[in-house]
Amino acid sequence: MAFEGLADRLQSTLQRIRGKGKVTEADVKEMMREVRLALLEADVNFRVVKDFIKKVTERAVGQEVLKSLTPGQQVVKVVHDELTTLLGGEQSKLAVGTKPPTVIMMVGLQGAGKTTTTGKLANHLRKKLNRQPLLVAADIYRPAAIQQLETLGKQLSLPVFSMGDQVSPVEIATKALEKAKAEHYDYVIIDTAGRLHIDEVLMEELQQVKEIANPHEILLVVDSMTGQDAVNVAESFNEKLGVTGVVLTKLDGDTRGGAALSIKAVTNLPIKFAGMGEKMDALEPFHPDRMSSRILGMGDVLTLIEKAQTTVDEEKAKELQKKMRDMSFTFDDFLEQMGQVRNLGPLDQLLGMMPGAGKMKGLKNVSIDEKQISHVEAIIKSMTKLEREQPEIISASRKRRIANGSGRTVQEVNRLIKQFEDMKKMMKQMSGMMKGKKKGGFKF
Ligand code: GDP
Repeated sequence: MAFEGLADRLQSTLQRIRGKGKVTEADVKEMMREVRLALLEADVNFRVVKDFIKKVTERAVGQEVLKSLTPGQQVVKVVHDELTTLLGGEQSKLAVGTKPPTVIMMVGLQGAGKTTTTGKLANHLRKKLNRQPLLVAADIYRPAAIQQLETLGKQLSLPVFSMGDQVSPVEIATKALEKAKAEHYDYVIIDTAGRLHIDEVLMEELQQVKEIANPHEILLVVDSMTGQDAVNVAESFNEKLGVTGVVLTKLDGDTRGGAALSIKAVTNLPIKFAGMGEKMDALEPFHPDRMSSRILGMGDVLTLIEKAQTTVDEEKAKELQKKMRDMSFTFDDFLEQMGQVRNLGPLDQLLGMMPGAGKMKGLKNVSIDEKQISHVEAIIKSMTKLEREQPEIISASRKRRIANGSGRTVQEVNRLIKQFEDMKKMMKQMSGMMKGKKKGGFKF
């Protein structure tokens, strides 16, 4: 997960000051020395770091903070506020044209994740906003870029406009816009060419596309793994094209975070989205305050809830609760529930959104083994319908069959059945407790 080193260091530094009943100016200064080092190590631009430290120190040694009832917590709040400002302050939303289609031009260096992000963005617009996008394949130079976009389009069941690689991007964009207007698309997302380095010829071509497409947004896709380079790339693209927003990709990787934390301050371009994985649903609108909370270990419950709202079926959740209450919970329900949790995204990302999860070091190694989950799935899928409903009928010979069918061992099958029974027992106790509570006392 991105920012891990930075998050660890900031959290342990802040932890020391958080609980203090009395904080002195010297305490703040000492803390800021550590924060400064943590930021520099995360590859944040040194001017940005200097400015940040100055602002936080000024506010934190102010009398209203040091003399407050909870000075330690107030200092943490100041850091959180300033980190949020550094990341862009308010969320910066996508522009919308006064009449459709809204045109979005995607630009960036080769390999930054432009084509992937084009697909993800289209998916986001359709799934979250219920809008109809037209994808446009205008990267005629990178071998297979057109095909890559077409494949993504098929996978998402979204239309892709392409004219092959022998037609100029300007002509492709012109024709695509005509089609989008005639067929009433809400959005046109143009995937343009990238190079390995900034290149005059490319910039000229992008300027021409910009001129005829008149985009409402020019989104620069940058790879957050490239650290300070990402900031330089953003400055160059912005100078030549007038970029309107940034998409930071690969924030799921172990980037140190320098790009995310410097880009707004250096270029004044807002980060609009963050790429959190290779899959088509791994794109999150960028919320500076939520990201700041994640970095400081305060969790990001809002994003978690939003994810749950789009992936968890409410009716099913209610049904499940009922089953838990009346003890009719089966292996099938177990499987389905696991599937829903999985749809929320990789477990370590989810964990990063829980408040204080960073502090629970042990959790990092526990129960986030995706492989283990696939094994459990395989075992349950090798059971017959009756076995899933009534695990008590699973005899030794049935266990052997299930183990063979799933490619796992009999011990693993035993362990899963035991876990399932334990879980049911726990549910029974819990519902007993609830009933007891209603009568006015706990029962154990
Ligand atoms: P383009 O040359 O800019 O169009 O780059 P691509 O869209 O082909 O992406 C380059 C590589 O980065 C591909 O392997 C993508 O799967 C991967 N990629 C893109 N975005 C992300 C992301 O947010 N996270 C991760 N882990 N990989 C990504």
